[in-house]
Amino acid sequence: MENLKLILPPFIIGLRYFFFTGFAYLLFYVWKNKKFIHKKIQPMMPKKESINNEIKYSISTILVFSCVFYLMYYLRQQGYSKTYIELDKYGFAYLILSFPMLLLIHDFYFYCIHRLMHHPKLFKHVHAVHHRSHNPTPFAAFSFHPIEAFLEVGIIFIVLLIPINRYVLVLFSFSILFINIFGHLGFELYGKNFLKTFLGKVINTSTHHNMHHKYANCNYGLYSIIWDKLFKSNHKKYEETFELIAGNH
Ligand SMILES: [Zn+2]
Ligand SMILES: [Zn+2]
Repeated sequence: MENLKLILPPFIIGLRYFFFTGFAYLLFYVWKNKKFIHKKIQPMMPKKESINNEIKYSISTILVFSCVFYLMYYLRQQGYSKTYIELDKYGFAYLILSFPMLLLIHDFYFYCIHRLMHHPKLFKHVHAVHHRSHNPTPFAAFSFHPIEAFLEVGIIFIVLLIPINRYVLVLFSFSILFINIFGHLGFELYGKNFLKTFLGKVINTSTHHNMHHKYANCNYGLYSIIWDKLFKSNHKKYEETFELIAGNH
């Protein structure tokens, strides 16, 4: 049983990636393409070579994530992890609040790592792999150079220092996959007035991250746009571009 637990991670991480990215791709680029085509952020369809590249590097990321899982497993065995299994250990209010707290920590961590990745040397040797997709598809969700993949998932070593329930951690792992699929979807799903709402002023949109791939010097955020606003790295034409695409009928 213990051996099975150790063989499974690459398959589970891989299956989750292919199931959800494959489903999003088939839905938006094949089955319902005509229905959503007016919501396509960049009018051109992505090139086949670009999609192959996204899948190839995502497979390499799945292997890196699996290695980090083993490392995490080892650290837990050695007593270096504060993660816990009992739902009521720290109370239910903490259990529920720990999830948005985790997202906020991850959001800031990602913003810092991402800006670091845009240092010319790191960009050239590492982050350029992710930016080969100028017009990304959902398959770009995990398309990272192995060093970047390790840094991306490095958030887990911070998480180990905080008491987090293991089910919350599973939910967190899904949120990482889903936000990456959403950011690389290539289609804008929110309505024209979304940026005028409170939520629209805080959370990220697919257009926001798509513009990051198109211009590569703006819009570094993951879940939110608060750090881009605070550090003035939002593209000046973000709102304008969003409204143009989201307003298409
Ligand atoms: Zn990206
Ligand atoms: Zn980037």
